[in-house]
Formats: sequence, C-alpha cells, structure tokens
Amino acid sequence: MQIRDLVREDIRDLVPYEPHPYADVIKLDANETPHTFPAQIIKDIFETLTGDVFTRYPDPLGEELRKAIGQMTGAPPENIILGNGSDELIQLLLQTFGGPGRRVVIPVPTFAMYKIHGQITGTEPVEVYRNSDFSLDEDILIAEMQKPGTNMTFIATPNNPTGTTVPEEQVRRILERVNSLVIIDEAYIDFGGRTCLSLIREYPNLVVLRTFSKVAMAGLRLGYLTADSAVVRELLKVKQPYNVNAFSQAAALAVLKNWHYFQEQIEEIVSERERLKVELLKIKGIDVFPSDANFILFRVKPPIVAEALHEALLKNGVLVRKKPGITHGLEQCLRVTVGTKQENDFFLEKLSKLIPIS
Ligand SMILES: *Cc1c(COP(=O)(O)O)cnc(C)c1O
Repeated sequence: MQIRDLVREDIRDLVPYEPHPYADVIKLDANETPHTFPAQIIKDIFETLTGDVFTRYPDPLGEELRKAIGQMTGAPPENIILGNGSDELIQLLLQTFGGPGRRVVIPVPTFAMYKIHGQITGTEPVEVYRNSDFSLDEDILIAEMQKPGTNMTFIATPNNPTGTTVPEEQVRRILERVNSLVIIDEAYIDFGGRTCLSLIREYPNLVVLRTFSKVAMAGLRLGYLTADSAVVRELLKVKQPYNVNAFSQAAALAVLKNWHYFQEQIEEIVSERERLKVELLKIKGIDVFPSDANFILFRVKPPIVAEALHEALLKNGVLVRKKPGITHGLEQCLRVTVGTKQENDFFLEKLSKLIPIS
C-alpha cells in the first residue's frame, strides 16, 4: 500500500505552504503590521477572560463580535460570518459554492489562496490575466465569468501583491453582468481604496471579505465576510461550529473598542507608504507600482535580477517577498511591506547600496 495512492488525485501534486523561518531579519514580507500591539489592550483582554473561556466551547456565531463589526461596517449582524482568518472563509465559500464540475474565476496576479482552495475543493481555477498596469481586463474577465459552470470570482481590492484598487463603477458593471458570486476581498481596505460594503443591499451576489490580520492581529486569525442573508444561510450549513476561538473573539472586540488607536497606526503606515514610494522612485534601477495597500510592488531593471536582489537584501538583514515561480506579469518584481520609519529607512539604505542610484 502506498499512502500517496490513497490521496485524492487532485490533492497529490499540491505543495505544502512553506514557512519563512528567517531569524534576526526585518520582516517586510508578509504584510503584517509593524507596530506593537498595545500592552494596555492586552491587559484589558486578559481582564475580560473568565474560566469559562477555557472550559466551554466558544460562541459559534460570535454574537457580540458580530454586533460590534455590524456597528462599524453598517452591516446587520445576521449578514456577517466570522472566520479563522479570511483564509478560512475563502475555503468555506469554495466548499459551499464550488466543487467538481464548477469553475472559480481568478484575475491574476493576485492572492495565491484563491487558487489553492479552488484546487483543494475540486473547483476548477480559471486564471484571467490583468492588464500590464494590473487593472482588470474587464471584457475578458466578464466573458470568463459568464461561461457555464462558473459559480464564483475572487477580486481583491486593493489587490495583493500589486496594490491596485478596482474602481467602484467597475465592480458595479461586473455585478450587473454576471449571475454568480463576486467576492470582493478587502483585506487591505483600511489603507486605501473604497469599500463595496454598501453595494450588498443592491446586489445579492456580492460577498465582501475582511480581516483583522493586516491592521492588528495576524497571529490570532480573525476574518469576516458580509453578504446577503441568502448567501449567509448557505455558508452556515458548511461552517464548522466552533471555527473562531473565544480568545480571538475577545481580542477582536478589544481592537474594535480601541479602534482610534489602530486608526493612528494605519495613518502612520499610509504616510510611510507615500514616503517610501517617493524614495523608491529616486532609485533608477527600479520601477514602482502605485499602491493603496500596506505594501509596495516594484520591478527591478536588468542587469539586476529580482531573485538575486531578494537574496542580497536577506543577507543584509531585510526580508521582502518574492513570488514563487514569478509569473503572471510579475517578472522581476518584489513586494515590500511598509514597516516602521526606522525599518523603512534601513530597507532603503540597503536597497540603494545594492542598486546603483543612476
Ligand atoms: C493576507 C490576505 C488574506 C488573508 O488574511 P487572513 O485573515 O490572515 O487569513 C486574504 N486576502 C488577501 C488578498 C490577503 O492579502
């Protein structure tokens, strides 16, 4: 008996997610917040914890947190589902609406998990190329979305790894012309772009995905989606009852209660992004893409090679992201997460040493 032969055929050739275990480097690779989580808020969270948090199952729907998210977003709590990170919700959407014989359309380059969860759930991932400036190629995209068997499309805005925002009129035009789910992933919405939340009342096929990861607490895994109640009803049939643990629910509540504090951190990241962009534009050996997110994508010009620059930066103590097998128009591109002012200065200093200024 070979264990491999027992595995579902479409799982056999998948590759496990590779951790990035680099010690003693400035981590500008994963779009996490560079700021510290305030000690006072941690203390507050611990003070809300009772013994029950440890001994009893968590609230399966996270009522209190849904209410708080509802107040912030204007969405009724019953239109919200919490997830163990928005990654889990991407999988939940595909488990519920995808599956064998069904297609999921993905405008690339974008977040890798749409395709991976597509494959895991037996849904056929259909990749549609973006324009060279990473805007959506609307006609080709809609033509793919209208093909039979297409049940869903994932569009990140601002997009990862490009930083591109999809204009609201374009989201509307897409929603008007298709009869399938359109999932707008707003993981980076706190840093720029415009939310599509208010469109949910008009379009029953719109799902908006959000996360606490990029702004506050990637380690505690908390994402949410909002959608029409008909969509929510179907998803709740598939969702694991206790998918979000009690501690993460309490922490997210504390983040919302202290939002002004995180809002300040966001503003600092946005202003650092703009400064970083101005400084990067001064370096002749790279091209810089506009970004509405907490990272910047840049393209390295020959004779410099992106992989070699990535490696050299790492040797100099800075980890940035290079996409595996760099494709989909990302040739020669690297993505750098906006760090603290000190981290950004350190990165810029190393980068300008490695790339001749003129
Ligand atoms: C980081 C990221 C996510 C995943 O967020 P989690 O809530 O941490 O799972 C989802 N979508 C996009 C586009 C991302 O970049």
